[in-house]
Amino acid sequence: MIVKLTRKINNSQITFDIDERETERALEMATFLATDDYCFNCKVSDKIKWQSNRAKGKEDGKEYIYVKRHCYNCGADSTMGKYLTGGLFWKQFEVYDKGEGVAPKNATSTPQKASNEAPHPADEVNIDDIPF
Ligand SMILES: [Zn+2]
Repeated sequence: MIVKLTRKINNSQITFDIDERETERALEMATFLATDDYCFNCKVSDKIKWQSNRAKGKEDGKEYIYVKRHCYNCGADSTMGKYLTGGLFWKQFEVYDKGEGVAPKNATSTPQKASNEAPHPADEVNIDDIPF
């Protein structure tokens, strides 16, 4: 399935040709790309910028690529990357606390730990905390 999609990212108009054999994967990527830039953490839409970074897994040495929608209002990120087992993960907007990991808004208990995800995009991640 081929999906053509044009949207503005940061200050550029970008046209994508998503070419995926599986319809679900094409629609998964199209949905990620087409979703409005809106921070569900602080409810703003005019402070979102797209970013990308790479991080290396401390144990497997593999390089992981992340695409993030970053909110300059509250510091939250919505991150997309690949699961170790294939397919994409796409996280909700969340503020990353270097000491505690991801701290859900208004959290009163232990921060949530992701499962079946590649290491967190931050370089400071302790890969021993990631269950494989
Ligand atoms: Zn925000």
